[in-house]
Amino acid sequence: MTALSLESFAAGRWIGPGEEARTIASAVTGEDVAIAGSALDFQAMLDHARGVGGPNLRALTFHDRARMLKALAGWLGERKQALYDLSLHAGCTKADSWIDIDGGIGTLFVFASKGRREMPDGHVFVDGSVEQLSRNGTFLGQHVATPLQGAAVHINAFNFPVWGMLEKLAPTLLAGVPAIVKPATATSYVAEACFRMIVESGILPEGAVQFIAGGTGDLLDRLTPQDVVSFTGSAQTALMLRSSPHILRHSIRFIAEQDSLNASILGPDAAPGTPEFDLFVKEAVKEMTVKAGQKCTAIRRIIAPRAFENDVIAAIRAKLEKTVIGDPALEGVCMGPLASQAQLRDVLEKVGAIATEAHCVFGDPASFTVEGADIEKGAFVPPMLFHCADPSGASVVHDTEAFGPVSTVMGYETLDDAVALANRGGGSLVMSLISHDPEVARAVTSGAGAWHGRIYINDRDSMGEATGHGSPLPHMTHGGPGRAGGGEEMGGVRGVMHYMQRTAVQGSPDMLTAITGVYVPGSKTVETESHPFRRHFEDLAIGDTLHTQSRAITLEDIEHFAQFTGDTFYAHMDEAAAKANPFFPGRVAHGYLLLSFAAGLFVEPSPGPVLANVGLDGLSFQKPVSPGDSIRVTLTVKRKTKRTDSYGEVRWHVVVANQDGETVATYELHTMNAYCYG
Ligand code: NAP
Repeated sequence: MTALSLESFAAGRWIGPGEEARTIASAVTGEDVAIAGSALDFQAMLDHARGVGGPNLRALTFHDRARMLKALAGWLGERKQALYDLSLHAGCTKADSWIDIDGGIGTLFVFASKGRREMPDGHVFVDGSVEQLSRNGTFLGQHVATPLQGAAVHINAFNFPVWGMLEKLAPTLLAGVPAIVKPATATSYVAEACFRMIVESGILPEGAVQFIAGGTGDLLDRLTPQDVVSFTGSAQTALMLRSSPHILRHSIRFIAEQDSLNASILGPDAAPGTPEFDLFVKEAVKEMTVKAGQKCTAIRRIIAPRAFENDVIAAIRAKLEKTVIGDPALEGVCMGPLASQAQLRDVLEKVGAIATEAHCVFGDPASFTVEGADIEKGAFVPPMLFHCADPSGASVVHDTEAFGPVSTVMGYETLDDAVALANRGGGSLVMSLISHDPEVARAVTSGAGAWHGRIYINDRDSMGEATGHGSPLPHMTHGGPGRAGGGEEMGGVRGVMHYMQRTAVQGSPDMLTAITGVYVPGSKTVETESHPFRRHFEDLAIGDTLHTQSRAITLEDIEHFAQFTGDTFYAHMDEAAAKANPFFPGRVAHGYLLLSFAAGLFVEPSPGPVLANVGLDGLSFQKPVSPGDSIRVTLTVKRKTKRTDSYGEVRWHVVVANQDGETVATYELHTMNAYCYG
């Protein structure tokens, strides 16, 4: 193929490679695939992001941006074959590319859906509940989050050119922050192709994304406290970048996802012959060979009970022997080459270091075969399994990441030893435990949780559906302490927060309602002439309120309700027993009776804009209601969220009070209300 000339996308223009550009070789054939590198005006890029992209994105609501992500996911999904084809040059089998390409598109879909379901159709994200800061409730607190007003600089690793880009773009764009993407050069031709599709889609507003094919020059020295760097790569590069005086002086956010000596523990219960033993072996082999072990989450240390150590080695060897290495385009090849010759040299160097403490029990880089490719030209290595006989006394095996198909088996005596060995990695992205014993899971999680960003537990019950040790999921946080970089990404809305500023806002209920668009109890309400259930979605305003008539509760009501529903709990039926209970003065009305009567008081029965009652949240019964008491209800529009083109969700703040005005129950009612024009 003719080498692709990779272009950067800066301030709305595509810019081709400059004089400093370097060639990128195919991992399989060694032939030139692409040429990348250009001299860019980084200040102009930042100005474009801050001055054009940011305002364009912030003009949209969270829901608008979530819809944008969904459209983008669909757009890329229709064009992904081109990315699969290009990824062959990076040494990826179809299964490897599926993780990268479909995994990336899936991540966009999840963020799109979380943005619609868990974030408001507005501009301010409400974080947590209102805090009562004063006795009478005239002065309250609320944490809110608003988008940073700078740019997000994404520096990605070579191993996932698509997923790595999209898993950072999704939360950034959902937050409302423009991004400048810098992929790792080695696989930047895949990232550039995907990025080009994003631009060509026209889905994102101007300035939302820019792309650097090449180095970042002095970009990081031009950042301000409103910018954020999200880095994925080696610990060495992360340290160099994050310790720059400019980044430190301006407290510029720096999220680091870096290398990690992930461990997998086989539980003491999981002897050979159990489903867990086989599962452990399967996961270990998969983590060694998928992406030729070039995954930040791959299992580097295989920790097994001393008694099963030899069985584990034998079982892993038996599977590795069947690994067909070669041209990833060929049917039947299950492991391609490493991404580059540089990566090959690095892995072999690290393997040499590991060999000072561990003995190689499988795989010889000087003697192995490849299918359909020239072993001399491609960056091929065989899977290499080591055994460390004294893991407690070792240090290199706990500290050296050979970023390839390399893993070390080590034995443990007690579960505490196993946990201590896992924690010797100094902080990891993920640790797995394969055990069918919940007590083992409890002990391992409490002993190891602080050192690992994710703990993946699998056994015979979950293995049919489990997602795999090595798969970070957009719903769950990805990141880990210490050696893993101390960063965190994804985790649904948690990941969006990295691109927003949390602010503790204090003020009166009216102020908080105005800021958040959510009714805060104590703020002004408006009692409208027509019943709110007669009004369409768009005609309801936050704070619109209905005060109902009151209704007396009789002993007959309670008895009727008890017989009708079968709920003859003693507190409703037996005066003496109820009185003996510290919560009740005597027989009291059922909480569910109060809810039912409340509905009877506030509903407007004839067909109208209210389509359905879809649930309630936060129900609390605060004071018992005795026979002879009466109740009335206040219903206030708390929050509105568009759901489809024809209806939206309305959340109502409901207060049920007694004849003395004391609150007996509160809850949040959800209804679906039709649009007038729907
Ligand atoms: P790397 O050499 O540290 O490079 C990572 C990124 O940093 C690349 O985009 C690289 O660009 C860029 N970079 C290097 N020097 C830079 C500088 N002076 N200024 C700005 N950017 C610079 O790591 P890698 O070899 O690509 O990736 C492998 C490592 O990443 C492994 O250690 C792996 O564990 C880790 N990783 C971690 C995760 C995670 O989520 N925690 C995920 C994947 C990989 P160039 O390519 O142009 O040099």
